[in-house]
Amino acid sequence: MKIRTRLTILFTLITAAILLAFAAVIYYTAKENREKEFYALLKKEAITKANLFLNASVNKQTLQDIYHNNRKILNEVEVAIYDTSFNLLYHDAVDIDFVKETKQMIDEINHEGKISFYQQEWQVIGLRYAFQGKNFIVTAAAYDHYGYKKLDNLFKTIAIVFIISILFIYLAGRYFSRKAFEPVKEMTKKAANISATNLDLRLLNNGSKDELSELATTFNEMLNRLENSFDAQKRFVSNISHELRTPLAAIITELELSAAKDRTIAEYKNAVANALTDAKKLTRLSNSLLDLAKASYDPSEIAFKPTRIDEVLLDARQQVQKVNPGYKIDIHFDPEFLRDENDNQILVNGNEYLLKAAFANLFENGCKFSNDKQSVVSISFSNEKIILRFADKGIGIPEDDLKNIFTPFYRGDNKNFADGNGIGLSLTQKIIVLHKGIIAVRSERNQGSTFTVELPHI
Ligand code: ADP
Repeated sequence: MKIRTRLTILFTLITAAILLAFAAVIYYTAKENREKEFYALLKKEAITKANLFLNASVNKQTLQDIYHNNRKILNEVEVAIYDTSFNLLYHDAVDIDFVKETKQMIDEINHEGKISFYQQEWQVIGLRYAFQGKNFIVTAAAYDHYGYKKLDNLFKTIAIVFIISILFIYLAGRYFSRKAFEPVKEMTKKAANISATNLDLRLLNNGSKDELSELATTFNEMLNRLENSFDAQKRFVSNISHELRTPLAAIITELELSAAKDRTIAEYKNAVANALTDAKKLTRLSNSLLDLAKASYDPSEIAFKPTRIDEVLLDARQQVQKVNPGYKIDIHFDPEFLRDENDNQILVNGNEYLLKAAFANLFENGCKFSNDKQSVVSISFSNEKIILRFADKGIGIPEDDLKNIFTPFYRGDNKNFADGNGIGLSLTQKIIVLHKGIIAVRSERNQGSTFTVELPHI
């Protein structure tokens, strides 16, 4: 069931319950009043007749005639007068005699002073009436035709008004809930049209401060984030395909040229060497992509364990120098550490494989962007952190490039100085952040660059 329908029904039910309670109170009060008023009328009639009979000594026959005459047009009250010994002194109509008085009833009235009760639908009262020092018992009874009719009319009116009101409330509820949910319907229609191909579509926001416009704003913000990350993914894939295509195209051209006609052994060797260089580039690229994928895993899926940073640095150096034997890499320890020999300081909770990839990138960059092919890392400690400074005396990074060098596939203005694919630093930053660390860079043109990495130690 739609919220709109549910709300309308709930609203109608609640209003119906309130109206019903209201109507019940009105009807019950009217019923009580009718009863009270009619007993009062009976009492008045009983006293008037007793007065006429006992006080004014009006003739019995005259009183009975008045009763019989009045009975034809209105609900005349039937009155009987007894003495306390149950002797009937006067009766309006002995032939009708609706109330069958008994000695017991007369005694009870005499004792109580006043009683009232229902006989079938007739209301009856009994009174003790004092006249000239003597007590008389007067009974009066009648059917409240007029009162019951009024009550019946009231009931019918209440029922009709109730039904019409509920119908009206239901229709009004439907109308207002439809009006209230119109923007939601609009939003649903708009959102249904948004797909990967038109992520630029946005929900309409009327600019007011209500909940729906808040929802539209939040939804639009989410779409902005999605669109950005979709664009980033697209850029990433096109960058990868470009990086793959360039060396592949070079390999194919090289091989096609060699196969086109007979070549000397030296030419073949040259072609194979060139193809090998490009193939190695491809291997490096695929390794970097693999590492990037690993570093992008959910941190809970990556194995972290206490890892000695000095050992990882030594392994990274070995890895870099294996591929580039000409690179010189020095590792300097903080003299304090050598004195303290506090082993825990050198431990971080980390993933050895990823940390090695990050450090190898920093070593490799330092060497490949310097004429002396040298990179130096110095290790120092603070209370909570290990601080690693990877410094080189290379060509430096142009200031405009500094803010972009951690972006995937970004290569600086100095890229022609050395081969690369632009993944290294973005991968390094991802790995350091994954280890709850930070990486920063300072560089000066033709003076060199220093990358500072801070990692929390155990
Ligand atoms: P790649 O080295 O493959 O080009 P990186 O992501 O490792 O990609 O580095 C991005 C860019 O940052 C490099 O192209 C280069 O312009 C600049 N860079 C990084 N490290 C250094 C460094 N030590 N000296 C000079 N430039 C550097």
